[in-house]
Order: sequence, then C-alpha cells, then structure tokens
Amino acid sequence: MDDSFLDRLKKEGIGKSTSHLFVYRYPDSDQMSPFDREEFAKDLEKSGKKVGELAFYLHIPFCSSICSYCHYFKQGIGKKGEIEAFLKGIQREISTYSQLIGKELEASSVLFGGGTPTSLEANSLNELMLFLRGSFRIPKKVEASIESSPETISFEKLVLLRQNFNRMSIGIQDFNDRVLKECNRNHDKEKALHSIKEARRAGFESINIDLIYGLPKQGIEGWKNSLNEVEAIQPESVTASDLRVREGTAFFARNKEEFASDKELIEMHSMFLNKMEGLGYKQLFPYQFVKKGQRMLFLENQWASGEYLGFGPSSCSFFNKWDYNNVFPTDKYLKDVEESGLACAVGKKLSMEDQMIRFVALGLKDCKKGVDKNIFKKKFALSLEEKFGKTIALLESLSLVKQSEKSLKLSRKGILFYDSVSRKFFPKN
Ligand code: SF4
Repeated sequence: MDDSFLDRLKKEGIGKSTSHLFVYRYPDSDQMSPFDREEFAKDLEKSGKKVGELAFYLHIPFCSSICSYCHYFKQGIGKKGEIEAFLKGIQREISTYSQLIGKELEASSVLFGGGTPTSLEANSLNELMLFLRGSFRIPKKVEASIESSPETISFEKLVLLRQNFNRMSIGIQDFNDRVLKECNRNHDKEKALHSIKEARRAGFESINIDLIYGLPKQGIEGWKNSLNEVEAIQPESVTASDLRVREGTAFFARNKEEFASDKELIEMHSMFLNKMEGLGYKQLFPYQFVKKGQRMLFLENQWASGEYLGFGPSSCSFFNKWDYNNVFPTDKYLKDVEESGLACAVGKKLSMEDQMIRFVALGLKDCKKGVDKNIFKKKFALSLEEKFGKTIALLESLSLVKQSEKSLKLSRKGILFYDSVSRKFFPKN
C-alpha cells in the first residue's frame, strides 16, 4: 500500500495503530453513564414477553499469569474460598435473570470467556454450565465455547470439559518463546502445540487458536513463522488480532518502538489474510477465519446486533435495547449481586440513532454478509443511504467499502482498517 494512499486515509482519520480502540459496541464503554436498574427492570416489564434467541457470556476473571498486553478485567488465580464465592455469586446473578426473563428465549450460543475460564477446575466449570442449562432454555447441541490457555489444560481436564463444551478456544498468541516471554505468557511453544493435540485427542472437533501480531520481538519474519505453524496445525478457526497498547497494561510503559509500526501492522494483517485464503479458509470477520462448514455463532450474533446477556464482573450485555456493563473488580461485583441479584454498573437504553450507528458499525464486521440494507430499512424505517449516504460515498471513494442493492460490506482494503472505517459512522468523525 503506497504512502500517498495512506496519507489520504490519514486525512480522513483512517489508519491502523496499536493505540486504536477496538470497536465492539456503540457508544464506547467510556461514553456510558451510570446504569438505572429500576428503569431497566420497568422497561423489561413493559416490553412484555420476549421471544427469539439470545447468546450467553460468562466472564471468569481468573488467570494463571497476567499478560503484558491484556486490558480485560482479570485477576490472579484466587484461593479456594474466593473461587467458591465467585461461583456462588455468578449463579445468583444467573438466577436473577432467569426470574426476569423466564425460559421464553432460546440460547443461540454460550461462551465462557475471561480471564482464563480453564484456570478453574473442570468440575466447577461443568457445574456452572449445568446451572446455566437449568436456568434458561439451552438446546442440547448449542455452540458452547470455552476460552483457555495452554498451561491450564491437561488431557484429563479436557475430557471432562468435553462433556459440556463443544468448542475450545486456545490463547496461543505466538509460537516464538522469546515473544511469549515478552508477553509474560505462562507457556512456551512446545506446551502450546501439546495443548492443541490434547484438545483434539479429548474429542474437541472445533478448536480455535488466538494469535496477536505486532508484539515486541516478533517482527515480520516471526509472524510469518507463526502463520506457518497455523498451516501445520490446521485448526477449525483462527483469530489474529492486532496488538493494542492500552493504559493499565505492562506494555503501556514500554517504548513505542518495541511494537510494530502502523505500516508493519498493515503488512502483518495482509499476510494473515493471504495465508488463510491460500489455505482455503473462509473469512468471517476482519480477524477471523474458519474452515469450511465451521461457524462462530457467538460473534455472528454480536455483530448482527443480536441480544446477549453477560454474567460475571465487567461482562457486557446487549438486551432489550440496553447496552451495559457489569461492575468490577470481583469483590464489588459480589457485593452488588448479594444485595440485588444484579451487577449492572454503566450503560444505557439505546436511542433509535444509537441503534442505527451500532447496526452499521458492528454489521460491517461481518465480511460475508455485511450490513443488510433490507433489515436496516425494516428496523429503522429509513434506508441506509438516506441515513449514512455521505459517509458511504466517502468510504466508497477511498475503496474501503463496496455495496450492492442488498448490502454494504468492507472491501479487502477496508478489512485492514476495520476499526477506524466503522468509526466513520460514529458522530464527530
Ligand atoms: S490469559 Fe488472557 S485474560 Fe488472562 S491476562 Fe492473559 S490475555 Fe488477559
């Protein structure tokens, strides 16, 4: 990609950088106001019986070590008593929602994320899943994913987990031991490869591996090697995120020169796209590819502005047009849940305007379907062109989006700049 094109994009505020924020909701979390639980409950009652599908997310905050880049809410693995209190608290929150919404809605997917859920015992995780199943309508064959890291999974544990989960996502991040050390990961390449083999042996037919590019000591060559490892492993899906350096992480204090430059990030993302396409994988989202026949239902729902309920400290929810976050850290979460059964802390009921922005900004993440123009018109009684014509024309002139009568999608170039392209639909951009 030549410099003059990158300069043109820069003038429009479009680019790729380790300092950019991910777009996974609208408005951004820091724009959220204190949550009005009374209003939320009243609104839910007014909405009447809800039908259809929703997804469930459980945030398990414990990790065996704290990674240098991690900006999620997480904590070291707790003592037995702390974990028991956490499990009791999250079950109480699940029960409260179960009473609020009943068993009318059916789960389309369940995700245990965090944190590192597998830093808990398999029996605790299985019990939690069974508790969820007893509280909501969850089809037997639902996509049930669990996130893990190599040092927290043994063959025996994986066999037990396979009883209740059918998709295992393993955080590998890179296959170079020097890079893993920089990240303060608690495993090396050998352990990572072993964990993937063990997950297969334990019966997981859907394995995702998470990678990050732009890390210190990684470089273009190192990234190429990691992608070659992916070729050798051939997991069912691969997620490769660009590094984001956020305040509050160990990386934030490091010299910017240690991370990939903006241009290198673009190159590394292109390498990922080329490699996965070359291997015959199908691109679902800007950072995710799957093998033929595989889905990522949790994310498909999220980017289509489908509803999901999050449980646990810091978890996000989008439900009944309310977009909100739970409180954290864990002691505050447990206190709130103990007092009221809920732990919603910040968020709001989205206005029609908010919903339109969210629908387009997140919908663009679906590289296959894009933003469905007919659904937009049906939902908002306004065409996509009427609402966002100017922004779309600008992005089209930069070859970042492509449209047909039915949809608006990111172009191949647009995929590389997803976050800042979608932000063009946010106000004041
Ligand atoms: S294991 Fe995952 S959640 Fe835990 S610190 Fe590392 S990146 Fe963050």
